[in-house]
Amino acid sequence: MSSDNIQCPCGQTIEDYSKYHTLYLKKDLGEIDILCPNEFCYLRELGFLKFEINDSNKIEFHKGRFYSPFVTWNATRMSEEKTVKELRKHLIDITEKLVSWEKVKQDYQQKEKEE
Ligand SMILES: [Zn+2]
Repeated sequence: MSSDNIQCPCGQTIEDYSKYHTLYLKKDLGEIDILCPNEFCYLRELGFLKFEINDSNKIEFHKGRFYSPFVTWNATRMSEEKTVKELRKHLIDITEKLVSWEKVKQDYQQKEKEE
């Protein structure tokens, strides 16, 4: 078994950012969950992104990170150095390429109006 790829503790290989699923929480304004692509995964949530939409309608990215069970699992399989490097890349790619920010913006504004 190759340990070149990031893997979820459930056994699901995650070759790159495009494999993740994201979940925009309608209840929790400004948070996106990063999910394992395996729908039977017992962890499900692998990380999160936090952001805000400011008054000039711009996304302000606050932070994003992966949860430690996922990070530790990979650090044990690969090396900690490689894991940190790979996951940082995944996180940037998720933020820049995977999340449909226009859609998120619309939902955010709609939700704000309701409150
Ligand atoms: Zn999983």
